[in-house]
Amino acid sequence: MPLTRLIYVSTITDKFEASSLEDILRIGRKNNSKNGITGMLCFQRKYFIQCLEGSRKAINETYNKIINDERHTDIMILEYNPIHVREFNDWCMGYIPTSQFTDPLILKFSTSVDFNPYDMSSTSVDMLMLEFKKTHLSF
Ligand code: FAD
Repeated sequence: MPLTRLIYVSTITDKFEASSLEDILRIGRKNNSKNGITGMLCFQRKYFIQCLEGSRKAINETYNKIINDERHTDIMILEYNPIHVREFNDWCMGYIPTSQFTDPLILKFSTSVDFNPYDMSSTSVDMLMLEFKKTHLSF
């Protein structure tokens, strides 16, 4: 099974509660580590960006669960490609929350600090996540 990277964006729904993020990270980290999936989840304002890397089978199975999750909607795939090497090999699910440190990086790859990943190119989203990783803005 070739190594594959998937990046999507989505928007929270009214089913997303105060405890949801913690639940998603807990279950996601447990499942991803079991399934050989690495990646990063960014939550900025009302939007998610997630990058998932792993075998094509594991990525497809996980994505099929994620798209049926009512805590988010308007899920749009930005990238689905075979890759030769993982970018997030150390993280089963790195997490980037909103902070004053993320705004300058968001501006670097967007038209404004009013973050809207649907308006960004897939390359910009990819580069933004790599920049978050480089600056160790993860939890
Ligand atoms: P279960 O054992 O059926 O569920 C585990 C727990 O998750 C349940 O006890 C319940 O508390 C909670 N849960 C499951 N589905 C829902 C739901 N629809 N609404 C509220 N609570 C629910 N999962 C991953 O495995 N890897 C990921 O990288 C990942 N990323 C995610 C990113 C986002 C933005 C979102 C919204 C969800 C993500 N999930 C991820 C969660 C995924 O959608 C499924 O909920 C999860 O994979 C179910 O795990 P399980 O099969 O072990 O299910």
